[in-house]
Amino acid sequence: MSRAIEIVEVGPRDGLQSEPGVMPTAAKIEFIERLIDAGLRRLEVTSFVNPKKVPQMADAEQVLAGLNKRADVRYVGLVLNRKGFERAVAAGCNEIGMAVVASDTFNRRNQGVGTDESIAAWLEIAKEAHAVGVRPQVTVSAAFGCPFEGEISVDRVIEVAKRVAEANPYEVAFADTIGVGVPSQVTEILTRAREALPGVRLRAHFHNTRNTGIANAYAAVAAGVSALDSSAGGIGGCPFAPAATGNIPTEDLVYMLQRMGVSTGIDLDKLLATGEWLQQTLGRSVPGMLLKAGGFPKPSAQAA
Ligand code: MG
Repeated sequence: MSRAIEIVEVGPRDGLQSEPGVMPTAAKIEFIERLIDAGLRRLEVTSFVNPKKVPQMADAEQVLAGLNKRADVRYVGLVLNRKGFERAVAAGCNEIGMAVVASDTFNRRNQGVGTDESIAAWLEIAKEAHAVGVRPQVTVSAAFGCPFEGEISVDRVIEVAKRVAEANPYEVAFADTIGVGVPSQVTEILTRAREALPGVRLRAHFHNTRNTGIANAYAAVAAGVSALDSSAGGIGGCPFAPAATGNIPTEDLVYMLQRMGVSTGIDLDKLLATGEWLQQTLGRSVPGMLLKAGGFPKPSAQAA
């Protein structure tokens, strides 16, 4: 099993996007800076999408402008089309992520065009990103099931992955967008992906919607992913499962990996402090379990 896993923190985008309220820009910036201070080096900081559709991300440019940029950090902007890509580059993102949905129906609902059009847009965007020195990566969304089409065949998932990989992305990710996946599926999809995409870095994105997120993360590590997405406190949700908890919590994931001897480069105490800060800032508790239970017990200072 891998000795090191890179964690991509998606709380500032995927997490906050699902919040009913809008976190003030200054608080978003503090959230991101705290995560970086805890050791995260790759963060999905915002998305460049229609602010009318996603008002939580309307301040994307201001967030980027307010960050104390570090050369060793990847500031990832999520984009869905060319306009978003141009905004992300102008705002100073040094990595862009694009999502292409394995289900054509879901792609149309989410992005207004079919999967084929999104793939075509991605191929163009990736080429331009390479040309301007911005690292492009891509996610195959709804790879484990779709709210509209139900089961998505592994053949279809791999076919979409092969097509998006033609753009020579930094990485191809597989996302369980609605939180339906189970570990055996993770093993199958990632094993097939490794065969179909030799030499391509793989990442995975899971949701804890049905409590399988952390088990899926384990399966993905065993299957050889280089990176996993997670969100501080486990914030975020799924627009098609309104009552569900969202992304796998970064603290819970770091705890599991560290105890397994897999290095993440993250300071768990600082991460937990960030989770506490997040709960106070949001004014509610978050789904993460480690924030309730704490880390591995520290022996008391004196036993006498
Ligand atoms: Mg998510």
